[in-house]
Amino acid sequence: MQTLANFIQGRYQEPVGGAYLDNVEPATGQVYGRIPDSDARDLELAVAAAEAALPAWKAMSIEARAKILYTIAEGIELRLDELAFAESVDNGKPVSLARSLDIPRAASNFRFFAQAITQYASEAHSMGEDGVNYTLRDPIGIVGCISPWNLPLYLFTWKIAPALAAGNCVIAKPSEVTPATAALLGEICTDAGLPAGVLAIVHGVGGRIGRALVEHPKVKAISFTGGTATGAEIARVAAPAFKKLSLELGGKNPTLVFADCAYEKTLDGVLRAAFANQGQICLCGSRIFVERPLYERFKADFVARAAARRLGDPLETATEHGALVSEAHLAKVLSYVELAKAEGGRVLTGGERVRPEGRCAEGYFLPPTVIEGLPFDCRVNQEEIFGPVATLMPFDSEEEVLGMANSVRYGLAASVWTENLSRAHRVAKRLEAGVVWLNCWLLRDLRTPFGGVKDSGVGREGGFEALRFFTEAKNVCIKY
Ligand code: NAD
Repeated sequence: MQTLANFIQGRYQEPVGGAYLDNVEPATGQVYGRIPDSDARDLELAVAAAEAALPAWKAMSIEARAKILYTIAEGIELRLDELAFAESVDNGKPVSLARSLDIPRAASNFRFFAQAITQYASEAHSMGEDGVNYTLRDPIGIVGCISPWNLPLYLFTWKIAPALAAGNCVIAKPSEVTPATAALLGEICTDAGLPAGVLAIVHGVGGRIGRALVEHPKVKAISFTGGTATGAEIARVAAPAFKKLSLELGGKNPTLVFADCAYEKTLDGVLRAAFANQGQICLCGSRIFVERPLYERFKADFVARAAARRLGDPLETATEHGALVSEAHLAKVLSYVELAKAEGGRVLTGGERVRPEGRCAEGYFLPPTVIEGLPFDCRVNQEEIFGPVATLMPFDSEEEVLGMANSVRYGLAASVWTENLSRAHRVAKRLEAGVVWLNCWLLRDLRTPFGGVKDSGVGREGGFEALRFFTEAKNVCIKY
C-alpha cells in the first residue's frame, strides 16, 4: 500500500487532520494506496510557506528561475519510466501512451516556459511629444492551480510551469482520482533546486481542499481545468473576491469528414481523435460527421478499426486501449450507451463492459464504442460523455454540417478532414471552437492560444497567453 503525502515547504507532510482517501487502480479495481484528504489547515501551512518564499522567488533573476525550470524538465525526463508506470497504474491509461505523450509533455511544459519567460516583453505606448507609457508585468503573488484526472501530470504541469516562470508561488491540487505523479513532482522540484515554499502540492477532494484554495483570500488567481459544472461553481465562489480566473472546461467536439479527404490518413486520425486515452481527452472528437457519399465505406472501415484496437492490461506495452478511470465513470459512460439505445441509436461495436482475463478481470474496461442512427440534437449528441463512445452521422452540405457541429453548448475543439483548401479554411472560420485542426488532431505547438468558447471555458492557456494570465499589468505613464 502506497501512502502519499502533501508537499509543503519543500517537505512531504501528513495531512494535519490525519484523514486519508483510498486510491484505486482502475485496471484491477483494487485499492492500492491512500492519499491525504486535506483541509483548510493544510492549506494554511501551504499559504504561510508561500508567503515566506515569495519575496526571494519574485526577486530572483529570470535566468536563475529559468535554469531551475529546465532542471525540473530534465528531472522528469530522467524518471520517465517510473512516472509513466505510476501514471498508467493510477489512471488506467496504456503505459505506452504515458511514455510517449503524458510524461514527455510534462517535461516540455517546464522547458517551454523556461524559454518563454526569457522572451517575454511588455509594451510601451508613445504619446508623441507629450510622454510615454510602459507596462510592467509583475507576478500576481500566490496562485492556485487545480487539475483533472485525464492527463494528470501533463495538465498539472501545464499550469504550474507558467505560473512559476512568471515568478508566482503556486499551491497546486491534482485530481484526487489520479494523485500519484503529482506527488512525485515535489521530489523532482526539490532536487532541481526549487526553493522551499515556492510550490505546494496538496491532495484531497474538490469540495474540501479545492474549495478552500479557491476561497482563500491570499490566493489571488485560480487556473482550473475540469468539468463545466465545477468551473461554474469555482467562478461563483471566486468572482466576488475579484480573483483572476482561467477556466478550461468540458467539450463535445465535432469531427467533419468530407468525401474528398485523404482517406487512410483520415481514418487513422479520426480513430485516434475518438479513442485516444479511452476517449477521455477534452479534445476528443466524439461526434463524427461524414459526407454522405463516403458514409457507408467510412463506417465499415472505422468500425472494423475501432473493434481491432488492442484492449487489455495498461501495463503491457502492446495495449492500445486501457481502463476507464473509475467505476463511477464507467457507470456514467455505460448509462449514455443505454440512453443512446433509448434514443434510437444502433451500437455498431463495443457498448458493453469487458472483463479481461487475469489480473484485470475487475478493471473498468469499455471497448471503443461506435453508434449510428442518432439525431444530432439528442442528448447523447449534446452532452459530454468523456469516454470511448463516438457517434456517426451523415451530412449532405457544408451548411448543414456546420449547423449540427455548432449546435452544442460547448466549443472547445474541432477537426476537419478535406483536401479542398478553400473549404478547409472556410469551415474552420465558421466553427465555434477555440481550436480547429485541419487534417490532423492534437498536433500541439505550445506557443498557440489554447482554450474554449461557449461553455468550454473562459481565457486561454499556452505561450504568452499563460504568462499574461499569471502576471498583473501595471501601466506607468510619464509626461515629458
Ligand atoms: P472535475 O471538475 O470533477 O474535477 C477537476 C478538479 O477540480 C479536481 O482536482 C477536483 O478535485 C477539483 N474540484 C472539484 N470540485 C471543486 C470545487 N468545488 N472547488 C475547487 N476544486 C474542485 O473534472 P474531472 O472529472 O477531474 O475531469 C473531467 C473534466 O475535465 C471533463 O469535463 C473534461 O472535458 C474536462 N477537461 C477539460 C480540459 C480543457 O483543457 N478544457 C482538459 C482536460 C479535461
